Amino acid sequence: PHDILSLFLGHCESQPCAPFLIGPDGAELSYRSAAVRAAQIAHAFRANGVMPGDRVAVQVEKSQTALLTWLAALLSGAVYLPLNTAYTIGELRYFLGDARPALVLCRTTDEAAMSDLCSELGLPALLTLDTEGTGGTLVAAAAGQPEAFPRHIPQPDDLAAILYTSGTTGRSKGAMLSHANLASNALTLLDYWRFTSADRLLHALPIFHTHGLFVATNVTIAAGSAMIFLPRFDADELVRLMPQASVLMGVPTFYSRLLGHAGFTRELVSHMRLFISGSAPLSAEVHKDFAALTGQAILERYGMTETNMNTSNPYDGKRKPGSVGFPLRGVILRIAQPESGVEMPQGEIGVIEVKGPNVFRGYWQMPEKTAEEFRDDGFFITGDLGYIDPQGYVHIVGRAKDLIIAGGFNIYPAEVEAVLDEIPGIAESAVIGVPHADMGEAVVAVVKATDPTLDADRVIAALADRLARFKQPRAVVFVDELPRNTMGKMQKALLRQEYAALFA
Ligand code: ATP
Ligand code: MG
Repeated sequence: PHDILSLFLGHCESQPCAPFLIGPDGAELSYRSAAVRAAQIAHAFRANGVMPGDRVAVQVEKSQTALLTWLAALLSGAVYLPLNTAYTIGELRYFLGDARPALVLCRTTDEAAMSDLCSELGLPALLTLDTEGTGGTLVAAAAGQPEAFPRHIPQPDDLAAILYTSGTTGRSKGAMLSHANLASNALTLLDYWRFTSADRLLHALPIFHTHGLFVATNVTIAAGSAMIFLPRFDADELVRLMPQASVLMGVPTFYSRLLGHAGFTRELVSHMRLFISGSAPLSAEVHKDFAALTGQAILERYGMTETNMNTSNPYDGKRKPGSVGFPLRGVILRIAQPESGVEMPQGEIGVIEVKGPNVFRGYWQMPEKTAEEFRDDGFFITGDLGYIDPQGYVHIVGRAKDLIIAGGFNIYPAEVEAVLDEIPGIAESAVIGVPHADMGEAVVAVVKATDPTLDADRVIAALADRLARFKQPRAVVFVDELPRNTMGKMQKALLRQEYAALFA
């Protein structure tokens, strides 16, 4: 099958009683019950005017019902458009004005403001859902609807979703993802990560982002397995529920926080089949500390909203700290010269470019932007810089937009950060370039220290024989917290803004 819904409906036939979602209290929602509820929601969508090809925009808290709206959108042939719960009304004006959904689903608490915005933008329909997913006008509209919905059968290249990128480097862009994009990636990952219907995935990620919505959910659906579905990340809850799980998917901060939890022990996780990390770089430090504590190697993979997953460390074989592994089956990955797109010699750093059935169909209503990000031969320019080592593992050294050019030299922040993070007394660091009259840019290290006596001189001294002079920070600033978003992504654009005048 070339679409996620067919995979889901297949399991409803073959194993109707098998659990799809498991609540924190252990209550199970079976494949069959999930299908019924999704069908009723699809009827509610249709009753509110949603037709195949229409967008359904969703900004609600994570709940079982919220997740079922993804399946309901698929049933009705709509294009699913989930939105970050942190977006304000001002930001939603852009997203909703841009996407023009036939239906908006919002939090019950946002109803008044959203209703005004919908009138302003001329959007026809609004429904609401509460935090638990048990109340709101959506729930009322779905109640008593028929238990089956005559599904729309899509073409492989039809849009299944528009997912906005995280906005780490600039304004978010709507990535148009087809049914074939999502299904091909889910089936590849199912195979690569050896998912079976016996798996229990501990799910503590948000469901408005590709990691929690597509990687986790679609692989689960492809396998016919279940998710232990938590409203958010909470280390105590993860430790409590770990004995019932077989796999955890997380962003790197999940792993560093679990490492700091007294209940997180080797015994607790000895039965776990797999720990997967992605969405932001997993530091080699955390990878090694995790292995030392648990005896298990975190499997790091690399993907983007636009491409689903591109690479993964192997299931069998070495999971290399600091590497994102090999290109997935069907994904062609090359390292290119950023300006020309010409392939770099083996081992050299360049921009990562990919091609394959996983790669999106362009940015929603941005044909120029789409054209800019693709080469003439169809490769998508990821904007991430990296290299391939002699064993074929891909390593990411940072984003092209974060590359620092000081005095004509290229400096890769990740390299400096890795050395900084090894200095005793440093918890984590972010290295940025800020404007500098002589050098163009100067290297600045923003550091979160665990040792209050640590000062800039000691940091620089500790780097002296580990990094070439031109890579060493010209300034070290100490902060209590580094700015990360909910996906654990470092907000370097914010840091650059904040320290822009350091050398002015
Ligand atoms: P925007 O495109 O709006 O600036 P974004 O790129 O952060 O935001 P996402 O699509 O959520 O939006 O994230 C994809 C990016 O996340 C990748 O391009 C890469 O920079 C980073 N990323 C994902 N997985 C990894 C990983 N394992 N290691 C390093 N970086 C990763
Ligand atoms: Mg991006």
